[in-house]
Amino acid sequence: MSEVIRLTPKLAVRRSENYEHYMFYCLACKEAPPYCTQQPNDHPKWSFNGDMEKPTFSPSLFLIRSLKDYEGCGPRCHLFIRDGKIEYQGDCEHALAGQTVDMVEFPEGYGT
Ligand SMILES: [Zn+2]
Repeated sequence: MSEVIRLTPKLAVRRSENYEHYMFYCLACKEAPPYCTQQPNDHPKWSFNGDMEKPTFSPSLFLIRSLKDYEGCGPRCHLFIRDGKIEYQGDCEHALAGQTVDMVEFPEGYGT
């Protein structure tokens, strides 16, 4: 079993035996995509610098929702989180494409 733990107003983590997923809120997607720093077997893993206030994850997170399987689930979103800022890449399919913004707090009541 796992539960979501709010680390800061802007960063949360869900942990279980084999998984560790850090979550932040994306204003463009209006949801909290996961950075998976631990997953079983050969699933992709991202690195986290351990800084709760100014997190850096690498490599980038690429949410490919424009594929047929994900139709209706929102725009493609491609971003880096570096030093507590979200760097939206130019190939995003939403209004924040190409912009760098501060991480935002989770909306009140989100995920609780
Ligand atoms: Zn997004």
